[in-house]
Amino acid sequence: MKITFFSTQQYDRSFFETHNKKFGFELNFYDVGLNDQTVHLIDRADVVCVFVNDRITRPVIERLAAQGVKIIALRCAGFNNVDLEAARSNRIKVVRVPAYSPHAVAEHAVAMIMALNRKTHKAYNRIREQNFSLNGLMGFDLFGKTIGVVGTGNIGEVFCKIMLGFGCRVIAYDVKEHEGLKKAGVKYVPLNELLTNSDIISLHCPLNESTKYIIGDGNIALIKKGCMLINTSRGGLINTKSVIKALKSGQLCALGIDVYEQEETLFFRDLSGSIVEDDLIMRLTSFPNVLITAHQGFFTTEAMDQIAETTLRNLQAFGSGDVLINEVKFDG
Ligand code: NAD
Repeated sequence: MKITFFSTQQYDRSFFETHNKKFGFELNFYDVGLNDQTVHLIDRADVVCVFVNDRITRPVIERLAAQGVKIIALRCAGFNNVDLEAARSNRIKVVRVPAYSPHAVAEHAVAMIMALNRKTHKAYNRIREQNFSLNGLMGFDLFGKTIGVVGTGNIGEVFCKIMLGFGCRVIAYDVKEHEGLKKAGVKYVPLNELLTNSDIISLHCPLNESTKYIIGDGNIALIKKGCMLINTSRGGLINTKSVIKALKSGQLCALGIDVYEQEETLFFRDLSGSIVEDDLIMRLTSFPNVLITAHQGFFTTEAMDQIAETTLRNLQAFGSGDVLINEVKFDG
């Protein structure tokens, strides 16, 4: 089976080549993303393997089908970038990696909270310039604070448990309540109540029609003044313009994002020698209380091992006609 990879970095090649030793697939890597401009690069592939910012639209899927592609393997959990209806009508299967070290992303969300709260990013730069003053670096105890968690699936569950370990009060909003978390002390509340009562809000739900701009103009005024907002899930969960207004007014005391709505043209690239045209992200980088990382929540060796292994196992199952336990189906 020939697998054509898009959006690959050197580390993707390295992990997939290592894990492929026991599978023996033919691997073909492109560093460009898959979209309607690049789909022509495919030359006789059974499988395309894609990542978070590839755009698998209907025209792309129709072209893939014409090239003989039978399955799209997402090497990530989210699938908001694939037109599942078009995949179904073109008889192309879609598989994903539903869970790979949820600890990686949950711990990154906690790292963002810790850095923003104790201003570690500022302290690091100060000390390098021999500025040993503490002015402006004061944080707050996490102990006893109320943490609002939106989405308590694999990652949200781990995140809730870590925050309970800090001695925080954890409230959550999800369309499906997690009984184990309730027993552990998490209280489910309506979204409005979560926004009003949380000292820190962390988003761990997928991006879909019901969650797009789940934090936006419609409800941002409900957020408790001085709240910290963390988004390690998908950029489209927050309306960046509304959040910038809330940062300017002081309603949000800090923002940590590992994802950004327009990240497709920015993240996973070195643009240090270019002029970045995206004015919203440039405005965000100008705030001292905003921490941005470029979609690195998943980036641990444990997660990369699991991503490569699960992706190749998904394809092995497809090749042998076995049940695809990680298939994503159109449910419209
Ligand atoms: P999951 O499917 O296990 O959990 C998602 C949870 O969100 C579920 O409990 C679901 O019921 C809930 N949910 C769905 N719709 C909702 C709604 N309208 N309101 C509130 N909750 C809702 O997914 P996961 O593995 O925990 O991953 C969560 C998200 O994290 C993924 O969708 C992906 O976007 C993101 N992610 C980011 C990175 C990264 O590197 N930053 C890595 C992996 C995943």
